[in-house]
Amino acid sequence: YSGCGKSLVVSISPTTDSIMDCNVGGYFGPFLKFAGFDAIEIQGKAEKDVIVVVDGTKGTVRIEEAPEEAVDSHVLAEQLTEMYADDENDKRNVAVVSSGKAAEYALIGMLNFSWYDVRRKTCRLKQAGRGGIGTVFRNKKIKALVAKSSGVKGDMNHVADMEAIRERGRNFTREMRELDDSQSRMRKVGTAHLVEIMNDYDLLPTCNFKFGSHPEAKKIDSKALEPKFTKGLPDGCWLGCTMSCCKAVDGFELKTGPYKGQKVIVDGPEYETIGGLGSNSGIFDPDHVIECNFYCDTYGIDTISFGTSTAFAMECFENGILNEERTGGLKFNFGNSDAVMEALHQMARGEGFGVVLGSGVRKMKEKFVKEYGADPKFLQDIGMENKGLEYSQYVSKESLAQQGGFAMTNKGPQHDEAWLIFMDMVNKQIPTFEDKAEALHYFPMFRTWFGLMGLCKLPWNDVEPANNEETDEPAKVPEHVDNYVTIFNAVTGKSIDKYELIRQSERVYNFQRIFNLRKGFGKRENDAQPYRAAGPVTVEEYESRKDRYDKQMKEIIGVDPEGKTTEEKIAITRKYRENVYEKLLDAVYKRRGWTKKGIPTIEHLKELGMDLPELIEVVKPHLEK
Ligand code: SF4
Repeated sequence: YSGCGKSLVVSISPTTDSIMDCNVGGYFGPFLKFAGFDAIEIQGKAEKDVIVVVDGTKGTVRIEEAPEEAVDSHVLAEQLTEMYADDENDKRNVAVVSSGKAAEYALIGMLNFSWYDVRRKTCRLKQAGRGGIGTVFRNKKIKALVAKSSGVKGDMNHVADMEAIRERGRNFTREMRELDDSQSRMRKVGTAHLVEIMNDYDLLPTCNFKFGSHPEAKKIDSKALEPKFTKGLPDGCWLGCTMSCCKAVDGFELKTGPYKGQKVIVDGPEYETIGGLGSNSGIFDPDHVIECNFYCDTYGIDTISFGTSTAFAMECFENGILNEERTGGLKFNFGNSDAVMEALHQMARGEGFGVVLGSGVRKMKEKFVKEYGADPKFLQDIGMENKGLEYSQYVSKESLAQQGGFAMTNKGPQHDEAWLIFMDMVNKQIPTFEDKAEALHYFPMFRTWFGLMGLCKLPWNDVEPANNEETDEPAKVPEHVDNYVTIFNAVTGKSIDKYELIRQSERVYNFQRIFNLRKGFGKRENDAQPYRAAGPVTVEEYESRKDRYDKQMKEIIGVDPEGKTTEEKIAITRKYRENVYEKLLDAVYKRRGWTKKGIPTIEHLKELGMDLPELIEVVKPHLEK
């Protein structure tokens, strides 16, 4: 079945100081599993750079010193694949996890998971991006993890009922063949197709989430990128994925940095990367997006956090909070791609403003207030982070449910947990607080399950069965949910239903919430959002969508905007939107079995079978207050 080779990386994040998990492709996870391990836990720190090698072909686990090898991922993955493969044919059996130079100096470091692309004869990379897990990796002086496994076949997991899985797999493959071209074109352009959709619906973040569309967005949409993607080669990040969405630009000649002049393969760019490195930074140059994508990847930097941090710094620059003296001479206006590239290279050298940028939005806010006397309230409003994690690339102002989908997460605002904008804003399927709360219960739990099982979410709903709209709950894609229940049972020999699937996630989700509580977070105040996620902060923003906001004021808030200044209208809109967000919090907490303060109740933990003494001990003092 498509999308069955994902790995999950879990750590305490250096930007949020609480739980972080990232779902990622590449061959490492399956190879580790075939070598006999369900998980690998890395405790403590090495004194010198090391590589951990799990060799399933020899039945060994080794920790080797690695003083000579490169750090940047596109070089290191090639070096280690060459080093641990017996010959060219054996390279397909080696998978590498690595980070990059910038992750040593930034808090927004990520991990690359490789696989060897036998047609291109080169290593490909997929990213576990969020929350600084690459920073943790390099801080522990891990240069790489390597897993090796040979003779991969479809039945290595000794599943209980292979035919049931094959049948669902065949159905999905047929849907891909018949429907992908008319639905999402994942096989042709990957997630880049979202750029034009988001721009059309005013959801594509532009200039630090101020706006949701831009006349130049077509320069970086999928039609602009499609000619740059290599066609006709299978682009699955694990064997057997017929969605094959991991597009790549081959032979891209770099114009900047230490690899200038070299021709490289760039994995992506995907939607989030285009939004962050492109529109949100006010840059509409596809070659910049590709170049910046390459360097973020090889330096081990999360493109989402980098994009949102860059956008924030640019707005600070345009407001005089930053200036050339403070950026070391960089003119950090929206649209200045040269300044962005220089800051990224500085980050990899551990120098100058690049290091400031790499500390992420929350740390920059603190620094700018403390050292430059910036207005903390303004920075809180425009700094797009929650819990210390930078927002991923969707404008949530007109979707209350998505505001919750971002800020009511355990790990911070990341689209992989709940993506409700279309259900809420476009299709208006969840009009009441209770409807939104139900969606903010179901979808985060359903999506969490993919991480727990090592599955990819994209085949769930990026292509839907032809009759999906006729089902009772089209947003859930019931036929595909049934595929996953069937696959779980066929793999394990158990017999769960779709409700137990949600319960499995709920146990983990509540455990994470309590873990965060123990770390000093996990409460209502930690689910607060920056106001820009909910509404217009500045006069410029309000006036850019004046008709919409005025109409809402009249029809929804019940106040006549006539004769009011823009500042007055911003204040009225804000009061209303902040109030409904609080009501949403109440409704969601109730649905999730939590108190008004966001604490899981003991009754709810009992229902889930999670009333373990260690957990009760953590929640009890918060329930008594
Ligand atoms: S859909 Fe895309 S990301 Fe998911 S497993 Fe397939 S190729 Fe990988």
